[in-house]
Amino acid sequence: MRLSEQTQLEQSPEIDVFEAEAVEGGRVQEFAYKGEALELGASMFWQHNRYVKTAAESLGLTLKAHRGGSSSSSSSGSSHDRAGTVGEPLSESASAAGSVGEDEGREGGGDGGQGGGGSTGEAAIRRRQSPGAGGEGGGLSLWDGQRLVLNMSGSWWEVARAAVRYGSAALSYRWRVAAAFRRFQRVYDLQAAGVSWHTPGAMLQQLGLFNETQWSSRDYMQAHLLRPAAWWLWGGRAFIEEAAAAVGRCNYNQRTDQLNALAGLVSYGPAAYGSVWAIQGGNRQLVSGLLAASGARVLRRGRVRVARRHAGTGLWWLEVESEGEGQTAVYGPYQAVVLAAPLVGSGLAIEEWAEADEAAAAFDSGGGAGGAAGAAAVESSSGGGHEHVGDVNLVSAAVGEGEGEGEGASAHVRVMTRRRLLFSDSASSHDAAAEQSADSSTGSGTGSSTSTSRAPSGDGVDGTAAALQRPYQVTITTFVAAGRLRAAFFNASALPPGLSAVLVTDSAQVPFTAVAARRLEGPDGGEEGEGELVYKLFSSEPLAPELLGQLFEEAGPGRPPRVLVSKRWYAYPRFAPPERFPPFLLAPGLVYGNALEGAASAMEMAAVAAANSALLVAAHLQALEQQQQ
Ligand SMILES: Cc1cc2nc3c(=O)[nH]c(=O)nc-3n(C[C@H](O)[C@H](O)[C@H](O)COP(=O)(O)OP(=O)(O)OC[C@H]3O[C@@H](n4cnc5c(N)ncnc54)[C@H](O)[C@@H]3O)c2cc1C
Repeated sequence: MRLSEQTQLEQSPEIDVFEAEAVEGGRVQEFAYKGEALELGASMFWQHNRYVKTAAESLGLTLKAHRGGSSSSSSSGSSHDRAGTVGEPLSESASAAGSVGEDEGREGGGDGGQGGGGSTGEAAIRRRQSPGAGGEGGGLSLWDGQRLVLNMSGSWWEVARAAVRYGSAALSYRWRVAAAFRRFQRVYDLQAAGVSWHTPGAMLQQLGLFNETQWSSRDYMQAHLLRPAAWWLWGGRAFIEEAAAAVGRCNYNQRTDQLNALAGLVSYGPAAYGSVWAIQGGNRQLVSGLLAASGARVLRRGRVRVARRHAGTGLWWLEVESEGEGQTAVYGPYQAVVLAAPLVGSGLAIEEWAEADEAAAAFDSGGGAGGAAGAAAVESSSGGGHEHVGDVNLVSAAVGEGEGEGEGASAHVRVMTRRRLLFSDSASSHDAAAEQSADSSTGSGTGSSTSTSRAPSGDGVDGTAAALQRPYQVTITTFVAAGRLRAAFFNASALPPGLSAVLVTDSAQVPFTAVAARRLEGPDGGEEGEGELVYKLFSSEPLAPELLGQLFEEAGPGRPPRVLVSKRWYAYPRFAPPERFPPFLLAPGLVYGNALEGAASAMEMAAVAAANSALLVAAHLQALEQQQQ
């Protein structure tokens, strides 16, 4: 859709979409349970996420405010019971992170990131009012591994206590979130005007956000909330260690010294101000709806194994493996290919090929059609003089015809017909490798595992290839049916009244980063509207039954905590400031949207990247058309 809008070609381009899984959605998936959509991946978005919100509205989907006693629909205008959203672990994400907030539904109020309203330290972690089906309120607590350092159930006393504890530092950080968001918002006007970028660095430079990706969230907060040593600034240490850390761990399962400052700001946005939204019936409808509306031909269960560019014509061919059947079919030719998934874990190889008699010349010159830079050389523009990525040679192995993949050394290959530019393991095939890179720095005692991609063996790996190898953080989403949370687990005599959500601070050594209650409607809980209590947890490792027994009371006599579903994700990049980004343009006609994810990961960021991909493809198609004239 976006591509058709962007191109002024005589004919609308034909688009094929290949989806490796049986259903589209990627990291936006739900588990259907008792008529409810329990979000396993991205569960919400911030009211200021213009692309996502507008797309949902244009598809006629019903939006529910994630912070509301009664949700409102921005598409149908109807209201509906939003008990179903109660107690989702706050924020499971980036810009959507916000669930760390009250459940007070309110439509928009969009100040466009001005950060208006609110006033005291209560902005730091806003009260989570979780009106359950039975009318229960709900509380949000922060746990430092020893004690609950903050309880927020909405009483004036707790609000005042949070205000004192996090002080003006919370307000100051909120102001920084709003300022960063004001800069980010310019992307919408620029993209509407047809501006595209060849590298994430150039995009972020133009938006004035690049510097925030170059240092850690912790250093950034310390510099701005601690070191100014102004008389009016207090609460910074507690805010950094507790509130900001808990939101970051919940959203990205990483500590503030691992997150880059931009990811930290994005993550905290919905906790700072504004409301949070989700799509009634499951956020995946957004993906399905957009796909259907695009008119693209969709091939599900089709994993693209190889994207291969012909060195002579510059056209692309895709080798696609059908899941289950183990058969591979070749699709093409295509003028352009968009890689709309993290390369890591995709199982995708990118190759260039030429007929035997052309191969030497084409490859030696790195040559593409018409003397343009070849696939071997990924040209990254300096983006208006801001960031120079340079010409990057990703080639590190050549494959002779009839030889096995991955065999190397070009000098001895007699006739070079194909060469592999880059490849990535599929997630399942390299879990073992991922485990090796388990990260003890999460400090949870559980480690974390990652997903990696690599350039072919040995040499030739440079900055871009390394950036493409960025590992992804494993996060497991688990839904558990159980009784109440046990206060004793948290060394507390009681938890805030009503349904509870607990986030953990940087210092907590526990195997989960967030747990939040939700009471389903329906018969299970029985009397007087008491529905079943279901908890959502994020963790790096599967949760042992013993832990669940310590954490939850039984749902009833003989009804111990029961795992309903558990889903392991390669969830978001492992941030590593100063961030290095691969280019959006990996080769002529090959666009990589997820290059932007290293800045911050969220549905809205994916949408911004997708708009950029469409603009880059449109420019490529137009250039090809002009060449033909
Ligand atoms: C637990 C969790 C919670 C999150 N919470 C939020 C949230 O609340 N709000 C928010 O905004 N964001 C959230 N996010 C982040 C958000 O889900 C992602 O940023 C976003 O979905 C990324 O979209 P994408 O299209 O770039 O990639 P993906 O969603 O990963 O989609 C890539 C698609 O490509 C397919 N694919 C991969 N390789 C191949 C291949 N070789 N051939 C064919 N198909 C292939 C995959 O099957 C997948 O469908 C969360 C993520 C996780 C994991």
